[in-house]
Order: sequence, then C-alpha cells, then structure tokens
Amino acid sequence: MPDKQANGARVLADLHALRQIGAYKTGVHKPTFSEPHLRSLQWLAQRLPEAGLAAEIDGIGNVLGVSVKAGPKLLAGSHLESQNYAGWLDGPLGVVYALEAARVLNPDPTVNGSVEVASWCDEEGHFGHFLGSRSFVGAVSEADIDAARDRNSAATMREALAAAGLAGRPRLHAERGRHIGYLEAHIEQGETLESGDLKIGIVTSIVGIWQYRITFTGEQNHAGTTRMAIRKDAGLALARFCVAIDDTFPKVCGPRTVWTTGRIALDPGAPSIIPGGAEMLFQMRDADIAVIERLEEKLRSMAAEVTAQGPCSVTVERLRTGTPAMMDASFQGAIETASTELAGGKSLRMPSGAGHDAQILATIMPAGMLFVPSIGGISHHWTENTDDADIVTGAKVFVETCRKLLTR
Ligand SMILES: [Zn+2]
Repeated sequence: MPDKQANGARVLADLHALRQIGAYKTGVHKPTFSEPHLRSLQWLAQRLPEAGLAAEIDGIGNVLGVSVKAGPKLLAGSHLESQNYAGWLDGPLGVVYALEAARVLNPDPTVNGSVEVASWCDEEGHFGHFLGSRSFVGAVSEADIDAARDRNSAATMREALAAAGLAGRPRLHAERGRHIGYLEAHIEQGETLESGDLKIGIVTSIVGIWQYRITFTGEQNHAGTTRMAIRKDAGLALARFCVAIDDTFPKVCGPRTVWTTGRIALDPGAPSIIPGGAEMLFQMRDADIAVIERLEEKLRSMAAEVTAQGPCSVTVERLRTGTPAMMDASFQGAIETASTELAGGKSLRMPSGAGHDAQILATIMPAGMLFVPSIGGISHHWTENTDDADIVTGAKVFVETCRKLLTR
C-alpha cells in the first residue's frame, strides 16, 4: 500500500543527507556548480525514479523529474545550491517536499495525475538572477549565458558548465499547457510565523524589487582651507538624503514596504578632500506596484527639491524593475484547507519579502508557495534552522496541497 501522507522520518533523513554534502558548521557551503552542489544534483537525480519520474539534468543545471503517468501534472520544486557558508534548508526543503509529494502521490492509483519535481539552478544568484527557472520559462538567451560570470571567482558560466560536464546539453523548456501549475515550499526566512505561533505561511504575492543608483554632485575641494559656508559636500548631501528618506517614506509606504541603502561610495573618498561626488545604491520592495510607484515619485520629487535648494545636485536612476508576482487564488485556498486539516489551522496569508523561483514560474502558469517557520527568523547564515516537528508538519501540508490541486 502506498503512503497516503508525507513520511516525516523519510523527509528528515533526505534533508540530513543533503546537509552532509558540502557541510559547513551546522549549515552548508554549496555555491552554484561547486562540487557539493553537483553532488546534490546527482543525489536528487538518483532518487527521482523512486517516485516514478525519469530524471534529467539539463544544459543549465536544472534537474527535472518527468512523469509518464496519465492525467494532470503539477510541477513542484525549489533549488539545491546555497549562498556562501549558509543554511541547510534554504532550497533543499522545497526540493525534498516536492520529491516526497511525488513519492506519495505518483504511485497512488486514486490520484489522477502526478507531481513532477524540479531543482532550479542558481536561484541564489552566483551567476545571475534565477537563471535556471528563467531558462525553463524561455527568458534566458545563449548570449545571457555567454555573459554570466561567477561572482565568487569571475569564472564564466560557460567554463563552469564545461567543468560540470553540462556543456552542450540541451536546456529543458516548459511545455505550454503541460502543468496545472507550480507549487514551492520554502523556509520563511523571517519571524512572522514563529512570533505568531503559526506553522504555515500561505504566500499571497512575492514582492517586486526596485533598485536605484542615486548620484550626488558637489565640488571637490581642500578639507582644510574651504570654509564650511561655501562647501558643496556631496557626501553630506547623501547622508541628509538618507535621513530624509527615513523621515518621509513611513508617511507614504505600505504596511510591509522595506527600503535599504546597501552601498555608499564617496568620490574621491579621502580624509582631506571634500567629496565632489557621492553615490548610493538604494532598493525598495513591496508586493503592491502602486505603492512602489508612489515611493518612486516621492524619491524623485525629493531629489528635485534638493537640487533646487543646492548646493549639490541629485539624480535618480532606476537600475532594476521587478514586477511583484501574485500567487494563484485557488493554490492559496488549497494550502489553507490542507493547513486546517493537518496544521490545526495555524496558517497565515502573507506576502514574501524575498524573491523565489515561484515568481518566475508564475509568469507562465498558476503558482503557489507555502512557508514553514524559521527559528529566530534567521536565514542566509549557517545557523538557519527549523524545528523538526515544523518541517514534518510542512511536508504533510505540502503533500496534501498537491493532492488537492491534482484531484480538484
Ligand atoms: Zn531559497
């Protein structure tokens, strides 16, 4: 008799097996196309036949498990590489849940259809942005791959693919209409669930990320002989602007908007020289495009005001425009029902403040995501962890959600 629910012990054993590959303290170090990353891909490819899936590793490092069972097909997965010296669950949790759903549901004759499993390459952006999932939806050209470089070593992606033995392999692309949708599980990477004693996050949308270069132009001069009254200090103008953003944005932002000045550079950046130029990289995230647009308008009007007042001028240049991705309503409903049955209803609908492959898949098919709690909200660090009991509850809800989506 096939299992009807997720097998918690099997899920934990698989996650620990992946944790052993490239272990670093209590986490892992598995940059894209590193030896431990490639070994993790092989590990998955070897397990997919247990779920009745034919495994393939494609020309960009995606692993896909393909089903020949008749009926509707649900795509599920996440990623297997990690950030540098980071946690053991960011990525593998979603891949193992998908594998478990396939192992439980695919052999079950009462389930019409099957779960197909994916591991998307380079979600963590060692070479680019979501290269694996974007390749699958047809948004990565050969020229994009030619241009991609490893941020750790400056090796080209072509060199890395050749060293991994993947050069020349075809890339797998989504077959339009094959899948009823895509479901991904992930650790929350925040503390909303833990602080509310909740077990399942039902993702409503994945934030859009908009990024800017804000440049201040003043006048470079001698730091000893130039009187304060006549200075055009671009560095000071930048610092004031940062403070002004923090004063102004709370009045116009949404409840979950976040903004960050991630890098500041002064030109020439020397102790005895008044900076003639200054630059900051600024990012804001929200699930509502109207909120982001409103904030950008504010940012530009503040810059115009500073320029008009002098003594420095400011320009705002948008570098990245990430559209928020809405998660499918029926997927959210299926996760909620499964949470009521298997997680005591301890679920919460919430936006995702982090980017995920689901936002890429959502451009071509209905998509959904569920979160499990992160202890202390910590992620992208080797101490990242989730209670075993929460991992098992999440697996049960995930498998049941897949069953509901396939049998509705
Ligand atoms: Zn991740």
